[in-house]
Amino acid sequence: PSVGEKYEYQAEVSRLMDLIVNSLYSNKEVFLRELISNASDALDKLRFLSVTDSELLKDAADLDIRIQTDKDNGIITITDSGIGMTRQELIDCLGTIAQSGTAKFLKALKDSKDAGSDNNLIGQFGVGFYSAFLVADRVVVSTKSPRSDKQYVWEGEANASSYTIREDTDPENHIPRGTRLTLYLKRDDKGFAHPERIQKLVKNYSQFVSFPIYTWQEKGYTKEVEVDEDPAEAKKDEQDDTTEKKKTKTVVEKYWDWELSNETQPIWLRNPKEVSTEEYNEFYKKTFNEYLEPLASSHFTTEGEVEFRSILYVPAIAPTGKDDIVNPKTKNIRLYVKRVFISDDFDGELFPRYLSFVKGVVDSNDLPLNVSREILQESRIVRIMRKRLVRKAFDMILGISMSENREDYEKFWDNFGKHLKLGCIEDRENHKRIAPLLRFFSSQSEEEMISLDEYVENMKPEQKDIYYIASDSITSARNTPFLERLLEKDLEVLFLVDPIDEIAIQNLKSYKEKNFVDITKEDLDLGDKNEEKEKIMKQEFGQTCDWIKKRLGDKVASVQISNRLSSSPCVLVSGKFGWSANMERLMKSQTV
Ligand code: ADP
Ligand code: MG
Repeated sequence: PSVGEKYEYQAEVSRLMDLIVNSLYSNKEVFLRELISNASDALDKLRFLSVTDSELLKDAADLDIRIQTDKDNGIITITDSGIGMTRQELIDCLGTIAQSGTAKFLKALKDSKDAGSDNNLIGQFGVGFYSAFLVADRVVVSTKSPRSDKQYVWEGEANASSYTIREDTDPENHIPRGTRLTLYLKRDDKGFAHPERIQKLVKNYSQFVSFPIYTWQEKGYTKEVEVDEDPAEAKKDEQDDTTEKKKTKTVVEKYWDWELSNETQPIWLRNPKEVSTEEYNEFYKKTFNEYLEPLASSHFTTEGEVEFRSILYVPAIAPTGKDDIVNPKTKNIRLYVKRVFISDDFDGELFPRYLSFVKGVVDSNDLPLNVSREILQESRIVRIMRKRLVRKAFDMILGISMSENREDYEKFWDNFGKHLKLGCIEDRENHKRIAPLLRFFSSQSEEEMISLDEYVENMKPEQKDIYYIASDSITSARNTPFLERLLEKDLEVLFLVDPIDEIAIQNLKSYKEKNFVDITKEDLDLGDKNEEKEKIMKQEFGQTCDWIKKRLGDKVASVQISNRLSSSPCVLVSGKFGWSANMERLMKSQTV
């Protein structure tokens, strides 16, 4: 027990710690993944800052992670030469929860009604630093930030509601820069302190860490040594009276040394032909803290004017929360320059907001390492990159839509259909790419959505336009009198039942040179005009129309004879240039 200043944990942390300590979680080994990922983040931060301030590296030039085990005492130490923490940072980072991964976990926990599944969630999300308490009952963090001339020690125990912080005054413990975590393992978990076990876990969990991870391993080499003969043997030899000959034997000389235990080449630098789907998916899950496999991925290199490498992913589900569709600050794209992590904090620079659900890494050799937000926003290189990334993202989505497994695209559409419709409104330039990806219900397909290509294929030879009706549900679309004539003529009509559909379609205007036509508009022409008949009807019913118009007054713009209905006597239609009834309904609901 140390003497130091005592601090209480924030309430959420205490709750989390309780959960962890009392968890019977069988997959406790995830603690290593979490702690290594923190070390790697700390190294990333340092490398990034050192680009503009090389002084930061002067105390320790090597950027690496070293893991030492003491199996007799059940102790693991994990040391990184990263950014370290100041005293205040220790309080802020290890006493409160502000961080994404852990916050996500707590939210999922809240969402999951069944408390019995808590254990599972730890493995899926990771609980960050606190996962150390899955296996340790005491954790000591000694850390030296290059921004502070003192080294500080944070110390916490598994069943406590508080932790302590003190200065590390023992020169024996001093590290030039970075953080050293010492885990005193619980009695039943001491097995983790076996060097071979740790090495196996490192290989398993950290293949995508781009800094070298060394583990402390026992090694051996063989050598011949002279042996002192034992007296009995010597006597025998004498009796044999052979010529004098020195005896030697082979022994194994043991020693301990650091051994590189991971592969450090980033996956995006590898040849796509040599990377398996499993590896892409693993990388995705580890990098973005996801537990579901992505729907699709795309690994590519672009050459020419601007060179960069990238791996993009389409997630399996949209993030929960209403504002995600309009919030481009998703931390979904990680930008590297010459392998140095630069930022994941973008605001539409690399992807338009409607595509902000796409996740991935981008590594460029053409941007300066000290690239700032202003540079990003003004850079011609970034503009070119953005164009290519967007194109690749569409290719990837198109790939899902062409998959033999129709369910894949249905899943995509359920989650991200809205995003693409938003794209129709916001990204005129990419209409050609978005339109084939859209899906709608129709008068001939009320169960399964169809694409515009399927609609076009199903058009009648004389049909010129793509017909649609916007409504609040399939049932009310199906029951509208506007549909009668079209059904009679066997013309397919798209049912736009999502509020955003109609605006999206109006922005598209046409598909494959066929105009979208609202069947509720006044000038609907089904190509079957019979002028002779119309003339007769007008003569016969003209007075009736005038009379009705008089009675209704300003409530309607005009009353006309029409050939649009087959069984209903009359219908209210929108003017050619007016809002459709659906739009009117929407506008009304907006202004309430
Ligand atoms: P997260 O990694 O999601 O931010 P963690 O609980 O894993 O959450 O870590 C909390 C914070 O503690 C980190 O964001 C970081 O600021 C700090 N931290 C943890 N480990 C280290 C380390 N090895 N070096 C420097 N800072 C660290
Ligand atoms: Mg972490």
